[in-house]
Amino acid sequence: MSSSAISISRARTHNLVDLSVDIPHGALTVITGPSGSGKSSLAFNTLYAEGQRRFVESMSTYVRQFLERMDRPDVESIEGILPAIAIEQKNSVKNARSTVATVTELADYARLFMTWAGTTHCVRCDAVVTRETSGSISDKLLGLFAGRRAVLIAPVTTDDGILEDLRKAGFYRLWIDGAIEEISTNHSKLETLPVLIDRLTLDHAKRDRLNEAVESALGVGSGKLVVFVQEDAGWTSHTWATAFICNRCGQEAQDPVPQLFSFNSPLGACPECQGYGRVMGVDWGKVIPNRSLRLDEIPIEPFNSPAYESCYDDLEAEASRIGLPLDVPIDQLEPDAYDALIHGRGKWYGIQGFFDWLETKKYKVHVRVLIARYRKYDSCPTCDGTRLRPEARAVRFRDRSIAELFAMNVGEARRFWEYLPLSSEEEARTGHLRREILNRLIYLDEVGLSYLTLDRQARTLSGGEAQRINLAAALGNGLTNTLYVIDEPTVGLHPRDSDRLLTVLGRLRDAGNTVVVVEHDPTIISGADHIIQLGPGAGRFGGRLVAAGPNSPAITKAAIGTSTDVDELADATRKDLENTDRIIIRGARSHNLRDIDVAIPLGGLVAITGVSGSGKSSLIRDCLYNAYRRHHRGETELDAGEIEAIENIDLIDDIQFVDQSPIGRSARSNPATYVKAWDDIRKLLAPADDKRITARDFSFNVDGGRCESCLGSGTVSIDMHFLADVEVTCDQCQGRRFQDRILRVRHHGKNVEDILALTVDEAIRFFIEHRGLIRKLNALRSVGLGYLTLGQSTASLSGGEAQRLKLASFLVPRQDSSRRLFLFDEPTTGLHSTDVRQLLSTFRELIDRGHSVVVIEHNLELIQASDWVIDLGPGGGDEGGLLVAEGPPERVAANDASVTGFYLREPVADTGSVGSTASNQS
Ligand code: ADP
Ligand code: ADP
Ligand code: ZN
Ligand code: ZN
Repeated sequence: MSSSAISISRARTHNLVDLSVDIPHGALTVITGPSGSGKSSLAFNTLYAEGQRRFVESMSTYVRQFLERMDRPDVESIEGILPAIAIEQKNSVKNARSTVATVTELADYARLFMTWAGTTHCVRCDAVVTRETSGSISDKLLGLFAGRRAVLIAPVTTDDGILEDLRKAGFYRLWIDGAIEEISTNHSKLETLPVLIDRLTLDHAKRDRLNEAVESALGVGSGKLVVFVQEDAGWTSHTWATAFICNRCGQEAQDPVPQLFSFNSPLGACPECQGYGRVMGVDWGKVIPNRSLRLDEIPIEPFNSPAYESCYDDLEAEASRIGLPLDVPIDQLEPDAYDALIHGRGKWYGIQGFFDWLETKKYKVHVRVLIARYRKYDSCPTCDGTRLRPEARAVRFRDRSIAELFAMNVGEARRFWEYLPLSSEEEARTGHLRREILNRLIYLDEVGLSYLTLDRQARTLSGGEAQRINLAAALGNGLTNTLYVIDEPTVGLHPRDSDRLLTVLGRLRDAGNTVVVVEHDPTIISGADHIIQLGPGAGRFGGRLVAAGPNSPAITKAAIGTSTDVDELADATRKDLENTDRIIIRGARSHNLRDIDVAIPLGGLVAITGVSGSGKSSLIRDCLYNAYRRHHRGETELDAGEIEAIENIDLIDDIQFVDQSPIGRSARSNPATYVKAWDDIRKLLAPADDKRITARDFSFNVDGGRCESCLGSGTVSIDMHFLADVEVTCDQCQGRRFQDRILRVRHHGKNVEDILALTVDEAIRFFIEHRGLIRKLNALRSVGLGYLTLGQSTASLSGGEAQRLKLASFLVPRQDSSRRLFLFDEPTTGLHSTDVRQLLSTFRELIDRGHSVVVIEHNLELIQASDWVIDLGPGGGDEGGLLVAEGPPERVAANDASVTGFYLREPVADTGSVGSTASNQS
């Protein structure tokens, strides 16, 4: 470790309290502490923000003129800063053509590799196609047909004056049906003139003459040559060309340039699907949902709306003439009759014809809505979903096309490239490319993504997966002397894989970089070089340095915290779900799920566990939530997971999926408006003695009292053309959000601006006599968001905070008594050990009100405190998709087949620190 450091002096960003701290250069530093203590404010809003400014400073003057307008972090000084790169959990990929291979640049190297090492095959007959010269043709002729008589012909396209030209050039004879004919005007009817160049025996002694004849034939035949060889059975003909043409069938081939292997290039993209790999088709299951109905029972959904009813009349009018019986159930129609129904016959245009006609009417909005309802994406039939044109896939290396190389998952691909025997000639030309490819695969494997296929669309990755890919890409790009600021890279990662992630972070450091990670994971904290702990609480109660220094047993122990709190709570509230009601998902088959049945007990806290890629989200998001919406809530246009059925769904009234997606982009939405507490506050603010100002004037959503320039957000955003938009304080209201006449109104001495600046905890004390309002604010406090100010924009919340804010909105007491099933995706994201207890008691509150809670989780403390565990696996991708274990945590811990069980074993037996036991085991 180097002795120099980044030295931060008196940082005051957000809640930081004149915080001064050193971050050693060339080391791995973990910043930890409770949620809201100021970790992101220090790591991203101070350190990274300054590093990025320095980075921009090094750019052109044109870019620099915008620099003054970028907010300078609120800090006295930062010395020793480096150019910075942030790796966050957002998956910002929108382009449908980005894949795992393209975002890691692995695709670029694989394309070059194919260009140099691939063999081109004929797209028509699959023969190997090579580019010939006159010398190579002569050699091959001598090799193949030595001793035989041969006639060399130049095929010449007939056009005006060609006969004359040939005669002038000294060619008088043609070779037609095995005989010589003198060129005459009769031959002008032929499409191609087989001009005789030479007749000779293929003999090594005559190689010069042969070579000369081949060259002249290629000249006359514009690069083409036909050789007739006399064999025992008669003359056989062989086509040769210096163009890239198949010798067997004459089909032209494409030069294997790198762009040919790219579906982002017009040269390589499949012409049918333009490189998207899929084409739009009709979802017949949605068009005819019930196939046991007969046509006279009007079974065709789109025809059942008044606008298209007449289609039944058109069908009836033609039915008997085209042999389509109206009184036979659709699933019993003869294939030919069914084909007539779909594709049309006679005057009947068919259901497909109906959709084709709709396509021409797409300028009408309701038509687009109709089409969307029955649309399905099918794998493109031309390229089999590989996105590449046939010519690209006809280039193969060791019998694999580039599409097949990309269809492997990271683990398989790593083995393939690692053990690939290359000839010394291949090694010389492509060895460096192989090393680049292999390096990237090793990094992807090490960050725990071995189950992802290289052709997986990047935009379908979860935030955690996208982040770890960016981490692997950072390792691949070989930058040094850079500051990497990384946000909780263990999100979505099973404890099994934390160790390998630590190795990767160490590697990024060893490459000469300074690595700063915001983390709660015990393995990463124990493995860091340097630890900074913020706290002691959140918001106003945080922002201070609790401890900082090189890793030592004492500092690690303090930073990880202990889980005894959680354990006590868990024991006090655990429920027995052995004999409770269950919802059963039958035949789940989405992605890697292998036709499994899963029973989810109601009335308690259920944890879905398993290594990354084992199928947890596929089960919960696709096969439960989306399938529920599609089959039970009537959202028929939704792409739901493949299942047979969900049983016992009547036991609940609704399913809510509470994910980490950001809450709106509006800077005017805030915690108070989100739980509807602002409605109560507005009423309190409206002065009783001045009827000109009403509750409405305190609204952020309608004009009246809000600032007219920023519409009540206090900031305006400036379009920076090429950089991200920049938020600056509104100069009309100076960030005070409301008009002066409104700001003059006070309630117990505070105006609207003061109230928006209160934290939730402070507001509870301030409004203590207003019960209804307190209930709403308490909901925020009970999910651990008591440190947020009422007016903080929801757009500034992290994924975990956003998820907990959504959770809070469900805790606000409602009149109805409906029983809901709540689904959460890693709700402990961003939570420190000490925050988990708070979250657990919130879940218990929901359960006590008759709801059920299901969480996808990796956090061992939360899993251990659950009532029931459903463990998927055993591995990721093709190695997962099965139900490995289920039952109370103790039972899963006792199951030898369960990876999660292995990590649960110690903590369940012993109430000591979860973290240290987990990290010692692997
Ligand atoms: P952590 O990363 O430790 O969870 P943060 O640094 O995100 O904590 O937040 C520390 C404090 O700063 C919290 O009180 C939070 O509400 C506040 N904060 C975070 N972002 C903003 C922002 N954009 N504007 C105002 N306050 C913010
Ligand atoms: P987990 O939630 O346990 O991490 P997932 O359900 O996300 O696992 O993934 C299970 C498997 O399905 C993995 O192999 C993953 O790559 C694959 N998969 C998930 N989503 C998609 C998708 N949209 N397209 C293709 N494959 C997917
Ligand atoms: Zn061919
Ligand atoms: Zn304003």
